[in-house]
Amino acid sequence: LVSRKLKQEDTIVQFDNGGIIGAGTTSFVFGPCSVESKEQVEAVAKNLHEKDEKFIRGGAFKPRTSPYDFQGLGEEGLKILHEAGKRYNLNVVSEIVNPAHFELADQYVDVFQIGARNMQNFELLKEAGRTNKPVLLKRGLSATIEEFIFAAEYIYAQGNSKIILCERGIRTYEKATRNTLDISAVPILKQGTHLPVMVDVTHSTGRKDIMLPVARAALAVGADGVMAEVHPNPSVALSDAGQQMDFEEFESFYKALNEFKSKF
Ligand code: PEP
Ligand code: MN
Repeated sequence: LVSRKLKQEDTIVQFDNGGIIGAGTTSFVFGPCSVESKEQVEAVAKNLHEKDEKFIRGGAFKPRTSPYDFQGLGEEGLKILHEAGKRYNLNVVSEIVNPAHFELADQYVDVFQIGARNMQNFELLKEAGRTNKPVLLKRGLSATIEEFIFAAEYIYAQGNSKIILCERGIRTYEKATRNTLDISAVPILKQGTHLPVMVDVTHSTGRKDIMLPVARAALAVGADGVMAEVHPNPSVALSDAGQQMDFEEFESFYKALNEFKSKF
């Protein structure tokens, strides 16, 4: 169902606030790794609103590698995102890790994210497919492109066609970056499916010093958007402290990426 052979036109995911993802419109999803406090989310939301951005991301249920690391604020985190989203006209993108949480999250979240670690959590995919909200599906850490497409198919098969694919890097032997961004996945997914494709430059690179050229590369190969993490004070962040941009870094990244985008 997600195949380009069955549907030639690009799927476009549209939002009430004017936000749009797909068909060559370059969309950005920025925000902190985790929701940590009202003040933190408020600061990021205000910053994004001033840029006329339409989305904010933030994790409330965090799939952490270690059980002793910060696990997220749960429903309280979703409420914080929702409040900020309402105040600043931003769609909320947040990860769901438990099939039973879609109902709860539905009142707070505009885009359900399914994270890399859950790309083949088939019960989660099916439940996402039964919702009527857009789903941002991230590629698994060691998923092939074919497996990634099948994961999207699981969602689509349940009746939800609003799916955004997100390439976020895969695991290889290379240690210079956190993951290896599979840049060729973007045109392959665009050719093979009719779904929007975004690139997460934070989790793929894990390096702020190369985020801009990598984001440019993503747009150059046809990505419909870019995701990146921004935090008011990354040094005290409760997750991914080393890779989130502070506002100053974000400002120059944003400006340069928009200049690049306007050349297309
Ligand atoms: C995230 O975007 O918050 C995240 C955990 O990313 P990923 O699932 O790609 O690791
Ligand atoms: Mn993160």
